[in-house]
Amino acid sequence: MTTALDPLPNDPLTFLADNFDTLVDSPFEIGLHQIHDFAAGGKPHQLAVWGQGNYDSAKIVSDIQKIIAVEAAMFGGLPYDRYVFLLHLSAHGYGGLEHHNCCSLLYSRFGFRQPETYHRFVSLVAHEFFHLWNVKRIRPQALSAFDYDQENYTDLLWFCEGVTSFYDLVIPYRAGIYDAKSYLKLLSESITRLQAIPGRQVQSLSDSSFDTWIKLYRPDANSRNCQVSYYLKGEVVSLLLDLCIRQQHHNQRSLDDVMVSLWQTYGQTQQGYSREQLQSVIESVAELDLSHFWQNYIDGTVELPYAAFLDPFGLELVADGGEQPIPYLGLTLHNQTETGIVQFVDVNSPAQIAGLQPGDQLLAIDGFRVRPDQLHQRLPDYQGGARIAVTVFRDDQLKTYPVTLADPIPASYTLKPVPQPTTSQKQRFRQWLGIDLDQVTSQRSTCPS
Ligand SMILES: [Zn+2]
Repeated sequence: MTTALDPLPNDPLTFLADNFDTLVDSPFEIGLHQIHDFAAGGKPHQLAVWGQGNYDSAKIVSDIQKIIAVEAAMFGGLPYDRYVFLLHLSAHGYGGLEHHNCCSLLYSRFGFRQPETYHRFVSLVAHEFFHLWNVKRIRPQALSAFDYDQENYTDLLWFCEGVTSFYDLVIPYRAGIYDAKSYLKLLSESITRLQAIPGRQVQSLSDSSFDTWIKLYRPDANSRNCQVSYYLKGEVVSLLLDLCIRQQHHNQRSLDDVMVSLWQTYGQTQQGYSREQLQSVIESVAELDLSHFWQNYIDGTVELPYAAFLDPFGLELVADGGEQPIPYLGLTLHNQTETGIVQFVDVNSPAQIAGLQPGDQLLAIDGFRVRPDQLHQRLPDYQGGARIAVTVFRDDQLKTYPVTLADPIPASYTLKPVPQPTTSQKQRFRQWLGIDLDQVTSQRSTCPS
C-alpha cells in the first residue's frame, strides 16, 4: 500500500485526510508494486513502480534525486514532509498528474534504455514534481478553491502548464542528466512542433487556456487549424520571457526569480493570483513594461519574433527544408491506419484550396496509386507550383481534385549560433548555458553523461 497520506499512529492501514480536497488529491497504489525508499533534501521519498520495464531502479532514483535537488535549490527548500512518486509502466503509456505531496506518472515500460526516450522520462518527472509548486501551491485564483460540481475556468493555464513544460526541459539539463546541446535540441524540437500548427495564428494562449474544458482534450479534424496547445506555446513563450529577463539583467535575473517571487507572495501564503497580479510580478522582476508582450503573444496571435529574443544570446532560428525538400500539399494522413485516410487538412493549404477534406481516402496522384507511406516519396518528384491530380474516395464516391502544390515549407527549425557572434553575444550565451557558443556546433560532448 503506497499513498502520500499519513497513516494513523496506531494503525498503519488507516489513513487520514484533513479534508475532501486532500482526499481526492491523494491516490493510493495497492498491490505488489516495487517500492524504493530514498532521501532527498533531508526528507523521505518513495518511488512506487507498478508494472515491468527496462528501467534501472538505482539510476532512476539517482536522477530523481538530482531533479529534486535542483528544484529545491530554486525554491529554497522542500515544502512537504514526505513525497511519493507513483510510476505506472505500460505498453505505450505517457502522461502524469500532479498532487500536493505526490505525483502519478504513466510511462512506456521499454522507454528507459535509449537516451532520447529516457530524456522524455526525466522531463516527465521534472514536470510533475515542478507542479508541487506551480499549480499545487502557486495557483491562479480560479483554481484555488475547486467547485467539484462544475468546470473551473481560467485563462492562465498557459502559465501553469507552459512554464512547467519550460522547466521540465531546463531542470534535467541543470541536474546534469543531459547537456546544453541536448537542451537546445529539445527547445528546437518544441519550436518546430509549434510552428507546424496553423492554429497558432488563430487561437491565443489565453483563449486556449480558457477553452480547455471543451477543446484541448477533445481534438477533432479541424483542431490544428483553429487551436494551439497552451502547454506547447506556453513553453515557448516562457523561453522568450526567460531570455527577455536575462537580457535585461545581464543573466543576473531570470524566470526563476519570477517563480521564487510568486512562491513567496502567493504560494507560501496560499492565495490565488489574478492575471493582473501575475503580470505585475513578472514585470517587477523584469523591470519592464510587458503590456505589449502580453497583448501580442499571450492575449494575441502575433507570430513569435524569435530573432529579437535569440539574437542577444548569439542564436538564430534556422529553418531546415530537410535533405529532400517536399513541395507543400498540406494534408496529414492518419498514422494509425494503413488505408490513407486524411486526418488533417491545413487551413489555406493547397489541399484545402483544392477542396480536399479530412476523412477522404487518398488513392492516387496523377493516376498512379499512392500508398500512405509513399506520399512523401512521391511529392519530391514535383516542384512548387506544379499542378497535380489527387484522386480520393470521399465516402464511397471516387473524386479527383486538381491541386497546385506550393513551395516547400520548413521541415524543422534549429537553434544555431549566428555566423559572427560579438563578444557580448558570446558572453551572454555563456552566462546563460555555461558553455561557449562555438561548442553548440562542435561534436564534443559538454557533459560527462
Ligand atoms: Zn502539467
